Amino acid sequence: MLDCAMTSRSGKPLRAQVLDETRMREIVEFTARTFLTPYPAPFGALIVDTKTGRRLIRATNAVVRENDPSSHAELRAVRLASKKLRRTSLAGFTMYSTCEPCPMCMSNALWARLDRVVYGATIADANCHCLQIHVPAKEIAGRSDMKCAVEGPVLRQLCDSLFTHPKMQKAFRSWSSGKPGRRPGSRKPGK
Ligand SMILES: [Zn+2]
Repeated sequence: MLDCAMTSRSGKPLRAQVLDETRMREIVEFTARTFLTPYPAPFGALIVDTKTGRRLIRATNAVVRENDPSSHAELRAVRLASKKLRRTSLAGFTMYSTCEPCPMCMSNALWARLDRVVYGATIADANCHCLQIHVPAKEIAGRSDMKCAVEGPVLRQLCDSLFTHPKMQKAFRSWSSGKPGRRPGSRKPGK
């Protein structure tokens, strides 16, 4: 049994950490389902009620499927959640993302007034496989008038396994932002 008063190594109450990991596992499993479709994607986002933990919406990256460069998982999750609730504010909700939100998605999370954003893999992890914009989500949040706690990485290795899955590695080769076969340190100078 968990002692709610116990704290984890990160200083977060153990129960809160277990809940974060449970939700991250859920969105990883949901995201991995795309590997069974013609449009595999390693990016997934889940929005839950911050207090009750009740799930509001889940979404995956649909850039290729929708031919829309802005169809990132986090952006789609916010869009779908706002439509579902018929309001523009998602105050009172927390978003879990398999990867650290890019500046576009983190900005959108701030405009949406989300309470918290919890991420798995980092932008640097994703950048081993696809192009990224190198501004940390915590920095975007820190420069905003809107308050949103950004926490991560959570279950980084598990989330990173979405990127290294053979189905995903094959799919990256067809992505316009893909970096097939390139690993950190493998980039040749001048290229
Ligand atoms: Zn994004």
